[in-house]
Amino acid sequence: MSFSSYSSIIGFFHPHNEVRKCSTEKSSFLAKMREDVVQEINVIQKKLLQEARLFQSELSTKQRIKLVFSRWVLACAKRRAAYIKHQCYTDDDYVAKTTFLVGNTVMFSDLYFKESYRYGSLHSTAVYLHELAHLCGTFDSLDFESNNPPRDSFVIGWESNAETYEYWVKYGFCIPEINC
Ligand SMILES: [Zn+2]
Repeated sequence: MSFSSYSSIIGFFHPHNEVRKCSTEKSSFLAKMREDVVQEINVIQKKLLQEARLFQSELSTKQRIKLVFSRWVLACAKRRAAYIKHQCYTDDDYVAKTTFLVGNTVMFSDLYFKESYRYGSLHSTAVYLHELAHLCGTFDSLDFESNNPPRDSFVIGWESNAETYEYWVKYGFCIPEINC
């Protein structure tokens, strides 16, 4: 779906949600993304519980701990979404950026909106969750791309990698090394 599909949608603004330096069109799109991300998290949370049960006997203690941490990140991201502040900027240095753990603002570059035309709104929702995941203590891994199934990298476990959460929005939840 293209960005223009959302141009007429006036999103619901939580009283704590602020928008800075964004056009009306971009603000509406971001409000829609925030609603979509919560829905996507709900789907992932449900699937996580189902699959953890389904593959119970195959999971190592380490994998169970990773899943517990993922559940925490997802719950945190959902909470964060309700209070997040959107800020737009024009440099195309990153698609979007935010701070690690602290703060309450996610910054979206023009590239973020351009990519939504190019790759569709699910891609943009996935990037949105990636940023929320950073605010919940996850990192970026340089040797991992969100189009490949999540894996542990050299120093970062898949549960601590923001790309994992992005992947789950794009391709659906799966347990790394168990069913993806
Ligand atoms: Zn990142």
